[in-house]
Amino acid sequence: MTQPDQSLFADHAYLPDGWRRNVLLEWDANGTLRAVTPDVKDAPAGVPKAAGPILPGMPNLHSHAFQRAMAGLTEYRAAGIGATDNFWSWRDLMYRFAARITPDGLASVAQWLYIEMLKAGYTSVCEFHYVHHTPEGGRYANQAELAQRVVDAASASGIGMTMLPVLYQYSGFGARAPREDQRRFINTPESLLDLLGALRAARPDNAALRYGVAPHSLRAVSEPSLRALLGGIGSDAPVHIHIAEQTAEVDACMETEGARPVQWLLDRFDVDGRWCLVHATHVDANETLALAKSGAVAGLCLTTEANLGDGIFPAQDYLDAQGRIGVGSDSHIGVDWRAELRLLEYGQRLTRRQRNVLASARAPHVADRLFDAALEGGARATGRAVGALQAGHRADWLVLDPDHASIAEHAPGAWLSGVVFCEHGETPIRDVYAGGDKVVDNRRHRDEEGAYARYRVALADLLK
Ligand code: ZN
Repeated sequence: MTQPDQSLFADHAYLPDGWRRNVLLEWDANGTLRAVTPDVKDAPAGVPKAAGPILPGMPNLHSHAFQRAMAGLTEYRAAGIGATDNFWSWRDLMYRFAARITPDGLASVAQWLYIEMLKAGYTSVCEFHYVHHTPEGGRYANQAELAQRVVDAASASGIGMTMLPVLYQYSGFGARAPREDQRRFINTPESLLDLLGALRAARPDNAALRYGVAPHSLRAVSEPSLRALLGGIGSDAPVHIHIAEQTAEVDACMETEGARPVQWLLDRFDVDGRWCLVHATHVDANETLALAKSGAVAGLCLTTEANLGDGIFPAQDYLDAQGRIGVGSDSHIGVDWRAELRLLEYGQRLTRRQRNVLASARAPHVADRLFDAALEGGARATGRAVGALQAGHRADWLVLDPDHASIAEHAPGAWLSGVVFCEHGETPIRDVYAGGDKVVDNRRHRDEEGAYARYRVALADLLK
């Protein structure tokens, strides 16, 4: 076993069995935890001490990096839309952005976004990357140019990445031909696998980088193309798909395929723990139980789903059936896992007119239950050893500010409740370590100024 190269001592750290005292974290030069030892009598000499309690870093299981540049720019009802502004009218605006993004612009937006994620306590991200081609729909000289820029942005920021190149083949159920404004996204399974191969050759897998695939949605692939795609990747590679975000897509699936999307997928494919079904929003009672039983992760993106007016996932029934969840920032209208978890519970409270809906007999604190679930499910969706402070996992964690008004004077058992539910002032997350590197120190990322300046240039260019 490799000897640890670095170590940190914490008065409190959140280990897989809960809050523990006097914890020594040791990791190697590759950024992997080698030992996590609670109840150490005295802080060993020469070992730095964390500024506050330590939480595992949260995986972000769903991101479209370029959409960060649109946040806050679509919050009005466009002329001519009338009272029916919805996901589909938002998508038209999003396509206009996608049509304009350049490799340099994408790199700048992605790097700033990943810095925002790290500052918010996301230490890894699953990037659902679908803009592949030139604005005219042709190939870049390096066919994986755009995906590679995104991978490089992650590595420059320090965040861990699961890169999921997207197969987008059709514009609708029944293998409808793609629209003109989808030309930058379109591939066949073969051309997408080819692109993935080129990307992988240029940027090989490593401790901070893993590859999977993302069939965009059932409306954008066919059963044969999904089979061809899955046949071309490793049997344990992560597979992410948008599944049932919109009632219109559920209706179209019923009409052309005779089944609801989640049911259709579960009936035809071996959906298991390597699958992440993003926006499984519209599921009936049978689908809820079947999805929970499959072991797949339901990818919930609450701030985006609220922003787009998608609907509310039946979280209580699903969690009670031992279903797996994780959270993602998706369109990046918000980049904060605390808000995702809070909104997950609040959606249930508002519809049921009850409190603490997502607590359980075993986990009476809602925040603790949702935090644990999102760590475990999010980690599974990444396909990487993250999401827990234990040997063999990535050295990813957050140091809370012990003086922050959301946790000061509270007992450790109430800390997660304060972190998730309190919305007072600046973030309680003080420092962030990713792969053993302290990338955020006292709420500042090491490259913050330069990256923000480049982001603004890219945004100004996009908005010209
Ligand atoms: Zn998405």
